[in-house]
Amino acid sequence: MNPWFGRVEFLVGLIAMIAIRIPYGKRCAELEVVESQKGRREIALLALMWVATTILPLILIVTPLLSFADYPLHRIPFSLGTACMLSGLWLFRRSHVDLGDNWSISLEIRTQHKLIDHGVYARVRHPMYTSIFLQAIAQALLLSNWVAGPSCLLAFILMFALRVSAEERMMLTQFGEEYALYMGRSKRLVPGVW
Ligand code: SAH
Repeated sequence: MNPWFGRVEFLVGLIAMIAIRIPYGKRCAELEVVESQKGRREIALLALMWVATTILPLILIVTPLLSFADYPLHRIPFSLGTACMLSGLWLFRRSHVDLGDNWSISLEIRTQHKLIDHGVYARVRHPMYTSIFLQAIAQALLLSNWVAGPSCLLAFILMFALRVSAEERMMLTQFGEEYALYMGRSKRLVPGVW
């Protein structure tokens, strides 16, 4: 297959993700934060994610710099990538809608913070991270390049590993028993599995 099918589809998905997030980013800037864990490590991880999800794919798409790592795009990875992209986008949007004003790019608690345990949060505690994993798999399958393809998956595995326990500890401190009970009836990323 022409590799540009994968690249253009990836770009459309990336633009859709940014469009979904923009209104929440704007709203988030207006709300008072009472607890923040946005330290140096978080900022470094966010910068790494920015490079992996946007900068490297753009370098691949607009310059020949990464062409040494290209490989052919085949129909099956393209179809699987499309399925991951579409389901990831759906879940990314749903988790933003359900989390609403409680969303933040880093680990933060707001003045009016509420524990969300309905919608896509009913069965998993981190549906937005599930959606980012789906997007990262889509990127790996669609870009057919050994550098720009897997970059987001590697960066997000690192970010998730370093962030998720700290996030759950922060939520436990804030919501106590309510969050402990929620942990008991939900999984982390995949409904009914883990
Ligand atoms: N980890 C979640 C949310 C990511 S956004 C997910 O993957 O869907 C990160 C912020 O969401 C954290 O700073 C935390 O304050 C907030 N948050 C995480 N889980 C929440 C929940 N169940 N209810 C309300 N806020 C939550």
